[in-house]
Amino acid sequence: MADHHLTIGILDGDDIGHEIVPAAVEVVRAAAARTGLAIDWRPMPIGRRALDTHGSTMPDGTLDALSKLDGFILGPIGHQAYPKVEGAINPHPILRKHFDLFANVRPTRSFPGLGAIYDDVDLVIVRENNEGFQPDRNVVAGSGEFRPSEDMTISVRVITRRGSARVARAAFEIARQRPARHLTFVHKNTVFKLGCGMFAEECRRVAEEFPDVRCDEVIVDTMAMRLIRDPQSFDVIVTTNMFGDILTDEAAGLVGGLGMAPGLCIGEGKIAMAQATHGSAPDIAGRGIANPYAMIESARMMVEWLGHDRGVPEAVEAARLMGRGIEAALADPSTRTRDIRGTGGTADMTRGILGAIEAEV
Ligand code: ATP
Ligand code: MG
Repeated sequence: MADHHLTIGILDGDDIGHEIVPAAVEVVRAAAARTGLAIDWRPMPIGRRALDTHGSTMPDGTLDALSKLDGFILGPIGHQAYPKVEGAINPHPILRKHFDLFANVRPTRSFPGLGAIYDDVDLVIVRENNEGFQPDRNVVAGSGEFRPSEDMTISVRVITRRGSARVARAAFEIARQRPARHLTFVHKNTVFKLGCGMFAEECRRVAEEFPDVRCDEVIVDTMAMRLIRDPQSFDVIVTTNMFGDILTDEAAGLVGGLGMAPGLCIGEGKIAMAQATHGSAPDIAGRGIANPYAMIESARMMVEWLGHDRGVPEAVEAARLMGRGIEAALADPSTRTRDIRGTGGTADMTRGILGAIEAEV
């Protein structure tokens, strides 16, 4: 039998991170207590507060300590608003690169009554996380943008066979677990014949390993339109970095907005990173009104993934309980936040989820 024990890091991030990350931790804690899952929690400094206490928004000590964990909850990072001082850096590329978190799994799921555009969407976008126009890996130094003269910028987009194949494989694995077993890969090989062409070729090659998954391909601009017109016809979508970034925000808009957009980053390493799609929302920080769903669901996805990956049935069961709690809270306007037609705040929604977890049999 496995050692029923997980070590999970807590990284608040910035702004609303200080509200929604503690909410997510409380919910995981409650579900774990009910299933007998032992979790060793490790709070760690990151972001603006870490700049004050440790002189860096991404302290070396945090990076070292993270590598010993099973997973971590990362709150949103408000790096655009960091002061222009030494040590104020964007932690995202460092984390993605250090742990090779190449697949960003972003589900879009409807819940009834939220006043969203659709009530019946259930899809997952898998976004390649380490290549494209944001190449964090060793291919191009720096940001991948160059300014050879004052009036010209060159942006370099990196696509590799290995990077394309492994994100495609991760997406097919997810599609295989879902009832519809349908995967759509998205690109624009009509124009970007080499880059998107390579991505598409690798997706087609990997598809042969998954004869049980129905597979098709859609050009990205058509996808942007079809996501609005018939999102119900999609199940799992896999695409390159920037297309995925744009399409996931679009998809979130269909089901209630950014508060409804969770995510899990996974990679070659064994560490999983729970990270909501939205940013740190400084405009609403400190007011107790942020929607904690995306962060809590991201944490739930991580617990479930670790449960399967590490063979810990208590974690899989804890994730199930969390899911039931989330559904119950979202069904009641008094335990929903205002962005999704509720009358409550962050604490009300968290309490609603905790109460439903306690009541669940
Ligand atoms: P980033 O560049 O980090 O993605 P962004 O500029 O896209 O950040 P966000 O921080 O994601 O901006 O927020 C955009 C707006 O969406 C915020 O101003 C806020 O009103 C709303 N928002 C984002 N997340 C939430 C949430 N969890 N609950 C409620 N509203 C949110
Ligand atoms: Mg954004």
